[in-house]
Amino acid sequence: MSQSSDSAALMSASDPHTTTTRAARTRFAPSPTGFQHIGGYRTALFSWLLARHTGGQFLLRIEDTDTARTVPGAVDAVIEGFKWLGLEIDEGPEVGGPFGPYFQTQRRDLYLIYAEQLIAGGHAYRCFCTPERLQRVREEQRARSEPPRYDRHCRYLTPSEIAAQLDEGQSYVVRLAAPTSGKTVVKDALRTEIVFENASLDDAVLLKSNGLPTYHLANVIDDHLMLITHVLRAEEWIPSAPLHAITYQALGWEPPIFAHVPDVLAPQGGKKLSKRFGAIPLLEYRERGYLPAAILNYMALLGWSYDDKSNTLSREQLIEAFDLDRVGVAPARYDEERLLWFNGYYIRQLAPEELTGHVLPFMERVEAEGGLPDSVARPLDRAYTARVLQLEQERMKTLADAPAMTSFFFVNALSYEPRTLIAKHMDAERTLDGLRRSHATLAALTGWEAAEMEARLRELVAELGLKPVQLFTSLRVAVTGRTVSPPLFETMETLGRATSMARIEQAIEALAAYPG
Ligand code: GLU
Repeated sequence: MSQSSDSAALMSASDPHTTTTRAARTRFAPSPTGFQHIGGYRTALFSWLLARHTGGQFLLRIEDTDTARTVPGAVDAVIEGFKWLGLEIDEGPEVGGPFGPYFQTQRRDLYLIYAEQLIAGGHAYRCFCTPERLQRVREEQRARSEPPRYDRHCRYLTPSEIAAQLDEGQSYVVRLAAPTSGKTVVKDALRTEIVFENASLDDAVLLKSNGLPTYHLANVIDDHLMLITHVLRAEEWIPSAPLHAITYQALGWEPPIFAHVPDVLAPQGGKKLSKRFGAIPLLEYRERGYLPAAILNYMALLGWSYDDKSNTLSREQLIEAFDLDRVGVAPARYDEERLLWFNGYYIRQLAPEELTGHVLPFMERVEAEGGLPDSVARPLDRAYTARVLQLEQERMKTLADAPAMTSFFFVNALSYEPRTLIAKHMDAERTLDGLRRSHATLAALTGWEAAEMEARLRELVAELGLKPVQLFTSLRVAVTGRTVSPPLFETMETLGRATSMARIEQAIEALAAYPG
């Protein structure tokens, strides 16, 4: 396989330079053999964006012909993933459409028809070789250090030999009669042309002995019958592309435009992102408190770029901006930190009511699943929770961070080490004094507004000859139980007078009893 601009193309896709000018019909065609992760959805997103950008359609087709490897629940999960991301499917399993069914196992009769047509045209043939024979051929090839492929034994059977085998009821597969000399050129919208030496091609199986097609046959037929204009798929399919180009040619069909999109690599090393190397199923991100907008934006930049500056792009901006010209061929690397950054960014964009709506389910989970302590009564007070969340919004990286970050707003009793009440360069005695004076200052207030508390307590700081941090650290630990929290005075305002004052009293008690 090599890349060149050789114009003596034997087989070619349509001109890749017209990639995005016509309405694109694209598809995502997963095999339901596992749960899709960000790598797969990234490829699907590019297809979806291309369809939306050009005013075309996006299809979901389930390539389930490898029935032994089908995983229960995988199809539902893939559809659920699209729904969560907000990527509408125009035609597919649930929504239907004029070119269904969209499960390949429900289309088997179609593939038989085309397999017969290929055989009749001399482009494919029946192969009666037993698994034992194929095994033997492979071993001999290995011994001669040759690449393993079918030795084309059955390609040259005479009509009467074939008839005899059929009469005997021998089972067979159907193989592609790949050209044995010359070149096959596959046009790839991202790579100009990819040239394959036909001598290196295999007579791949198109139809299995159980009558089900392989990927090669089903994919070509369905992409054609479903009027797919652009096939965006993973780079790993490049070696299959010449077989597909040959099949299109054999059937007299115009191939779609291919774009083999770059791999998404695991966080470290050169391996592709996969279940074994750093990937989690997409829907797991929902559980972990990611927002679909963050995932979409992050995925769009795995192999595509807008310009050097623009990173945060909404769904609408992505649709507007996306085209294949800015999809690169260099692999992209999955980077959880960057994804978290996007998530924090989109959390900060949420309006208060949206934030509350998104976060409440995480807060109300049971404690063992990361929710607030079980002692906190559910359902939570929505208005109070909304006020709390606004204070934490800036710091949240995932929605699932919220319960741990905000628990002190909800629990009755705080638990912390009294020694943490004592700020740097302070001692227990001066801290105790500071807390008592603060308590008195706050008790004298008629209202309970952050600005007012801050003004009075800053005066107190000056009066006591302290630095603000020396007093405010103690107050912060007293009212939140932590050394890090949202802004102190807003926190106290939200906690309310009664809770704040009671907590300062508890701190005073704890410190008074503290040994030293
Ligand atoms: N069923 C193939 C897969 O799951 C589809 C490849 C393609 O898009 O052509 O990767």
